[in-house]
Amino acid sequence: MADKNAPGAIPVVTTPDYEAMVIGAHPDDDDFGAGATSALWAKQGKKIVWVVMTDGTEGSDIPNLVDTEFMLTREQEQRMACELLGVQKVEFLRFPDGHLTNSEAARKAIVRLIRQYRPRVVITHDPSQHVYAPDPDEKPNDTGYYNHADHRATGTIVLDALYPGSGNPRSYRELLLEGMQPYKVHELYLFFSDQINTYIDVSETIDLKGKGLQCHITQFGPQSEIAERVREHAAEVAKEAKEKKGLDMQYAESFRRIKFFVPPQEESKIDVPEVQQ
Ligand SMILES: [Zn+2]
Repeated sequence: MADKNAPGAIPVVTTPDYEAMVIGAHPDDDDFGAGATSALWAKQGKKIVWVVMTDGTEGSDIPNLVDTEFMLTREQEQRMACELLGVQKVEFLRFPDGHLTNSEAARKAIVRLIRQYRPRVVITHDPSQHVYAPDPDEKPNDTGYYNHADHRATGTIVLDALYPGSGNPRSYRELLLEGMQPYKVHELYLFFSDQINTYIDVSETIDLKGKGLQCHITQFGPQSEIAERVREHAAEVAKEAKEKKGLDMQYAESFRRIKFFVPPQEESKIDVPEVQQ
């Protein structure tokens, strides 16, 4: 444990500016993972920023698309979705789609954004989620999947950027010269996780989530049923919230939530239920 009173020690900032930073691998991952929660919090007057790690250029079946044009189209789709949801800022880091690794450059880019926006909550992919393989005897009509490498890489990059990166005065010292003070994120929410412990009631914003996803025309076409699929899934999640936690919700998003820092004035509130309305 470092001596915080040692000569030359600088304080770690713990006062947030933004409520949440959602970090996804591709344009549309933030929408799927936390679109309705983002819209809900934005409606409550909270500041939200989304980050997209890759340029999204592998998200098509057409090999001869021009990368730059396709990237810009997908970024425009993402901006339109953000506007609909009330997400105030979106940052595109443009690492090559399909080739994201837990590199120094990627970690540093996230540390810089965390120190710049100071989100209370960071929301991203659960990096431990590799394989979904339902028992073929129990669910013969269900297909499984292998979680995209960029999703896993994003989760790992973000976790490594949170600790020890963003909150450590001796990590990324060169960022101090840019005015980026070390900052401690209060909570981490992981989506696409099989270790869910938190449900958010998004009945008020599930429609917006669907409309936001419909902005991603390169992914789902102009007349997609994506909004209906997302609504059905959110109803399933709400059912799970009832079974596991006795919560009454019509539509929900779910997360694996980890608390890193509880501000002193909130200590008396620690035992409130793990759900935000
Ligand atoms: Zn993705």
